[in-house]
Amino acid sequence: MATRLLALVALLLALMVGMATAQDARTVLQAAAKNIGADTLKTIQISGTGWNAATGQSYSPTEDWPKFEMTSYTKTIDFDAKFSREQVTRRQGAYPPRGGGGTPLQGEQQQDFIVSGNYAWNMQGSNAVPIVRGYLDGIPVAELRQLDILLTPHGFLKAALAPGANPTAVTWTPRGRRVTDVSFTALGKYRVSATINDQNLIEFVQTRIGNPFFGDLLYEIRYGPYKDFGAVKFPTVIHHHEGDDRLNPGHNALEVRVSNVLANVSAAPLAVPDAVRAAVPAVRVESQKLADGVWFVGGGSHNSMAVEFRDFVTVVEAPLNEERSLAVIGEVHKLVPNKAIRYLVNTHHHFDHSGGLRTYVAEGATIVTHQGNREFYEKVLFSPGPRTLQPDRLFALNPDVVRDPVFETLIQKYVVSDGTRTMDIYPVQGLIHSPTMLIAYLSKEKILVNADLYSPPAPGAQPPAAPTPLMVTLSQNIQRLKLDVGQHVPIHGRVGTNDEFMKIVGKPASN
Ligand SMILES: [Zn+2]
Ligand SMILES: [Zn+2]
Repeated sequence: MATRLLALVALLLALMVGMATAQDARTVLQAAAKNIGADTLKTIQISGTGWNAATGQSYSPTEDWPKFEMTSYTKTIDFDAKFSREQVTRRQGAYPPRGGGGTPLQGEQQQDFIVSGNYAWNMQGSNAVPIVRGYLDGIPVAELRQLDILLTPHGFLKAALAPGANPTAVTWTPRGRRVTDVSFTALGKYRVSATINDQNLIEFVQTRIGNPFFGDLLYEIRYGPYKDFGAVKFPTVIHHHEGDDRLNPGHNALEVRVSNVLANVSAAPLAVPDAVRAAVPAVRVESQKLADGVWFVGGGSHNSMAVEFRDFVTVVEAPLNEERSLAVIGEVHKLVPNKAIRYLVNTHHHFDHSGGLRTYVAEGATIVTHQGNREFYEKVLFSPGPRTLQPDRLFALNPDVVRDPVFETLIQKYVVSDGTRTMDIYPVQGLIHSPTMLIAYLSKEKILVNADLYSPPAPGAQPPAAPTPLMVTLSQNIQRLKLDVGQHVPIHGRVGTNDEFMKIVGKPASN
């Protein structure tokens, strides 16, 4: 009896605490909104300088995301219109010119990222380019950019106070400082929380987004000291993380030192261009036979190559995500019925080149990769951590037999062979893109596969006047390894001849 009474009291207490929490949340949010001017704000324009980084494109798995200097940063938000535009001028600056994501930048680059409701696009000059998926691939880009709006201090307060948001609050005293953490579920899916201090200022916001590599990827913003900018108070520093440095050094994504903030600017949001409205996400697979038992599997932004051996198939590259992997695997099974994919050769650790690896492991394939990638893959890509936002087969099905991936790693060379056919896999030396990059070579067919180093120019396009540093490094490695190349099979772009390549890189310098 006594226990039942106790349980009832506990239940009542829990209900009262719950009610108090909902009430507290609104009180804390309203105080903060009034303090920083969120209650009367319709639009805001933030400008400054700083750096942004290429998430998932670290030079090596033991380094942070590669940074670029932003000489100018402007973000304009219209909260009611669910519109934002982020305009960046950036250059390599003093940041180490190594890693992926466009490194090293030559001269200045303009970035122009827009979202309007459910549509996202980038401006390239006067061209509107629809952006459906990025390499932070677990989340549609429009959704991510909407999340970015409501992770701003004013955006958070507006969204958390909106009807139906049902915010909850916890007041606590971490390290002796009293703060209130307010949380709500944004866009029907993302648990978003903010830390509000006793000055009624938001110091920190965080959520998690789906990511094929990381699973539920930590996505957080720390706000530095606030300043009065007329009608609003705004932080003078925006520091943004994508990733968790307890798991991997890759985490710093953006820092803006805010110099100016305008409230209620009267710029009308841009209309969604027709081409953007009409863009549909599609996974296309087109295969092309390169030699007996060798197929180029393209059709999208990233290619794979399938090679038939006597008793099995080897696929080079598992790019992007599970969706892409399933489509490529389906095509491979059509091209080579009744043989399992035994090996998946992974060129390097960048998200867009390794995001599909888990699907091949679920297929039972062994991953061939550079020794330097193994720990990163074991700790992050194949971590048993949660993947609730974008569950894949390996997470959702989790069959015992494939719970732990099988790796074959190399430092010098690895050979896939069945006695009749041979694929040689080598590391690329002296590369600014990644020290753990591999190329795959079929000596009999004279086919060389590379990722991110050389893509033959589009048909009809003028070949570049000078080779890029990455092309030069590829050429040096071809000489070092004495490879006799007939065809270049790039992970990006079309297949090309070695003659084309030689015309661009020129005659090798003899020494
Ligand atoms: Zn890369
Ligand atoms: Zn790439």
